[in-house]
Amino acid sequence: MNSIEHFINGKIVKGLSKRTAKIFNPATGEVSSNVNLASSADLNKAVDAAKKALPNWSGKTPLFRARVLFKFKELIEKNYDELTKIIVSEHGKVYEDAKGSLTRGLEVVEFACGIPQLLKGEFTENVGTNVDSWSMRQPLGVCAGITPFNFPAMVPMWMFPIAIACGNTFVLKPSEKDPSCSMKLAELFLEAGLPPGVFNVVNGDKEAVDAIINNKDIAAVSFVGSTPIAKYIYENCAKNEKRVQALGGAKNHCVVMPDCDLDQAVNGLMGAAYGSAGERCMAQSVAVAVGKIADPLVKSLSKKVESLKIGPGLDKKSEMGPLVTKEHLEKVKGYVDVGIKEGAKLVVDGRNLKLQGYENGFYMGGCLFDHVKKDMRIYKEEIFGPVLSVVRAKDYSEALSLVNDHEFGNGTSIFTRDGDTGRSFASNVKIGMVGINIPIPVPMAFHSFGGWKRSLFGDQSIHGPEGVRFYTKLKTITSRWPSGIKSDPEFVMPTMK
Ligand code: NAD
Repeated sequence: MNSIEHFINGKIVKGLSKRTAKIFNPATGEVSSNVNLASSADLNKAVDAAKKALPNWSGKTPLFRARVLFKFKELIEKNYDELTKIIVSEHGKVYEDAKGSLTRGLEVVEFACGIPQLLKGEFTENVGTNVDSWSMRQPLGVCAGITPFNFPAMVPMWMFPIAIACGNTFVLKPSEKDPSCSMKLAELFLEAGLPPGVFNVVNGDKEAVDAIINNKDIAAVSFVGSTPIAKYIYENCAKNEKRVQALGGAKNHCVVMPDCDLDQAVNGLMGAAYGSAGERCMAQSVAVAVGKIADPLVKSLSKKVESLKIGPGLDKKSEMGPLVTKEHLEKVKGYVDVGIKEGAKLVVDGRNLKLQGYENGFYMGGCLFDHVKKDMRIYKEEIFGPVLSVVRAKDYSEALSLVNDHEFGNGTSIFTRDGDTGRSFASNVKIGMVGINIPIPVPMAFHSFGGWKRSLFGDQSIHGPEGVRFYTKLKTITSRWPSGIKSDPEFVMPTMK
């Protein structure tokens, strides 16, 4: 049985802990490997390596760091197929979707290649007579990332390329459900010329996470995962005086206006609700049908949901793969049972899907609910599976209130042909990422990604310009040379003349 350990100081290191977890191939239900679950001693070892590597790495020029990132980019491109297959084999999503998510990660590496430009800072000549002032951004130190199962390449790549480009060193704790991609990325980064210890991967669960929270040598923590854990990370890292950004769960609404292009909305919703089996934080899990569009929307959606092609991720014909684990599959099916009990109308029932030859895989078909109400659990809670809920609203303002009243604020979109409605929605919706006739408005690498409300704890979004700000400290220098105007001692607050 393949055993996945840790990547510390440029080498695969066997864990000191005896605890392990099973990694499954969701397409077949078979166990593919065991992953060692780090003890706090394992985690601390990685932090020590990162701390040792810090002075040399932070002392390198931004240009030097960029060149290592350029090489890393090249190696990712060379290994695209292998990395994509690793994602498919542990997560289950279909090949092209996995490849797309890797591309979204690669784009962050490409953004980080521009680090000499991004770290240029600001300069003002003569803030006062013969006095100059400049601001620069310096690395924080050792940073850590804790990531979820649903994007085993992309979400870690939202973090470490920028942190490392800024001159920090990094310890990544990926999801214990699909850790192999991070291990491969660490090998490639070393091959690209990254000095040992700058990027480390420690596999594990709560014990490793708590060791991150409690390690005094970690300056900053980036977390992406579910809301209760995000809150836990945010509160405890702040208590331990760390900089922290903690991205949480979501319940993204797609508002479908009566004047929209129905085909465009339906196709957009199909991809956004059922792509990656709904296991995306930007999945659209609620369609808000406004006015008379509701009946045609549900009719058109139900036909498409019934004919979704479900199968293993490596089968080119599959549109939707299995869920990540059996437990998660059962949890999602459980939500469908709850929805029925709560009185929502289950228009398409995917619970009993069986695939010949893959009887033990973690599959279910797409589910579609109509007449979902605000007080139902299937509306309030994140299901994180291929389940779309249609809520009917009488007009635009009722639809807007629904979106704004929800506890989560990650993403949303509106389908309309009316520019006024689109503009009003973008302006008034209390959500971090908004699409207008765009079903999954995930910002590109050179913008920043982040939700509002209980979808992000902390002040800064992830990657893009916000990423550079998160992974650096601002320092402002004010300077005068002795040849400048001499002055007597001043006992009042200095003001510039
Ligand atoms: P999760 O919260 O269960 O796990 C995330 C990370 O936290 C993992 O590394 C895990 O090992 C660790 N963890 C789990 N339980 C813990 C505990 N009790 N104490 C300390 N650490 C713990 O999330 P998941 O199931 O892996 O991922 C799905 C969730 O992530 C969904 O809620 C989804 O919306 C969210 N997500 C959010 C974004 C975003 O950008 N907002 C992106 C991707 C996923």
